[in-house]
Amino acid sequence: MAKRIFITGMWHETNTFAHGRTGLDDFQAYQYGEGDEMFALFADTNTEVGGAMTAAMELDLNLIPGLFAGAVPSGLVTAEAFQALVARTLELLEGAGEIDGVLVHLHGACVAEGTTETDARFLAAIRSKLPPGTPMVATFDLHANLSEGLIAQADALVGYDTYPHNDMGARGAEAAQILHRMLWSTRRPAKILRKLPFAPPPQVQGTGSEPAAGIMAKMLDMETWGGIWSASIAWGFPYADVAHLGVGVLVQGDDHGHATRIADDLAMTIWRQRGDFDAGLVKVEDAVRSAMAAPEGPIILVDVADNAGGGAPGDGTTILAELIDQSARKAVIVLCDGAAVRAAKALGVGAVFSGNVGGKSDDLHGPPMPLVGEIIFQEAVRYQRRGDYMTGQWIDLGEVAVIQADGVSVMLTEAKAMPFDADHLAAAGIAAEMQQIIVVKSAIAWQAHFQTFAKGEIYVDTPGVCASNLKRFEYTKLDRAIYPIDDDGIWPAK
Ligand SMILES: [Zn+2]
Repeated sequence: MAKRIFITGMWHETNTFAHGRTGLDDFQAYQYGEGDEMFALFADTNTEVGGAMTAAMELDLNLIPGLFAGAVPSGLVTAEAFQALVARTLELLEGAGEIDGVLVHLHGACVAEGTTETDARFLAAIRSKLPPGTPMVATFDLHANLSEGLIAQADALVGYDTYPHNDMGARGAEAAQILHRMLWSTRRPAKILRKLPFAPPPQVQGTGSEPAAGIMAKMLDMETWGGIWSASIAWGFPYADVAHLGVGVLVQGDDHGHATRIADDLAMTIWRQRGDFDAGLVKVEDAVRSAMAAPEGPIILVDVADNAGGGAPGDGTTILAELIDQSARKAVIVLCDGAAVRAAKALGVGAVFSGNVGGKSDDLHGPPMPLVGEIIFQEAVRYQRRGDYMTGQWIDLGEVAVIQADGVSVMLTEAKAMPFDADHLAAAGIAAEMQQIIVVKSAIAWQAHFQTFAKGEIYVDTPGVCASNLKRFEYTKLDRAIYPIDDDGIWPAK
């Protein structure tokens, strides 16, 4: 008889500095499936559930679906949403009958109102309903903020090894294989977690480039050593005010001492290189000045802090204010501002717009900016992506207006424009290649398209919920110094 494995998941990367809350409707709007719907959602996809489904067939495991709930990165999860997800998961678990093992897919940086150990609580709730000795394996994102509390709840845990995350399926399969080993014996691995007082911003965590690439290669080699079940490095999600913030090295193996030595070695390797994880940020005045002085454009000014795809509003005005101040020429910036677009629509093309733009969604991304200029474009914009990323997807920007304020073109949109390519600019009559300066509100995703023609890029030190300069945030729950939030931390810890 095939062993019966309950599979379920809750996935959210919570920006505790972002305004607004994440409710059950946000999970339902992004990724939500119960029972067979969950399988339909992920069959043949490069995701944890998809990978586990494929592995389960090979291993002859009978997967019993619970639910999978995922929401895009955003503010705190409401207490009601978290309680509802736990309650529904336990209901499905109870209805599943006798279970031989459990697979749980987590993010590892979820924070709900009232508890910073949200992922651990999710596992604990499931654990409380299982007969003693039932093996449970969990997966987590490379951006997880691992904690001892979380590690204690599962018999083994497996994290993504790549950023951008393209090994989600492989890790789901690995989790199923590790669980399979545990089904036939009472042997469990020793789990050694080393937490470093170090929290690099996502912008420098890419595993395709140094210093992360070399460290991950060393870890993957150690993972093949005898007696080691699995090793992971979770680089952490720094936009979370939680005590367990920061890089976590997790090594699981037969022998406690052996796993400990490997975890310490990896942790020390990372610690020694902490200074190499440098975001290379430039002050906004200097960034605009050098972009204007560059012999050839376009120069990309990267506004990571207002990353429209990372939970930020996409209406930050810090760089716009500087462009106007320094009388920039051939510069373009896109702001999400429905009210300003509607005001421009009422005036019509050719009229002079005079009013505040941007900075309206919160007080973290610069104030609303007074702007005067001619309305040179006004239409509803809907287009299909042609670039490599999300090709073919329809993008609806709602009503769009372009205000020409001397040399600066300000494109106002009702919906957030994610700058994965320049199609959104072209749709409003703006030729990206002809610009001297293009502001993008993105961390990494802009590169694939804009780097094909840009003559340079500058990462700008702007304020916002996704800022790479972590000194801009006020952390209240850290119980030790953490680099680079503080100028140094102390390692090894006592
Ligand atoms: Zn991630």
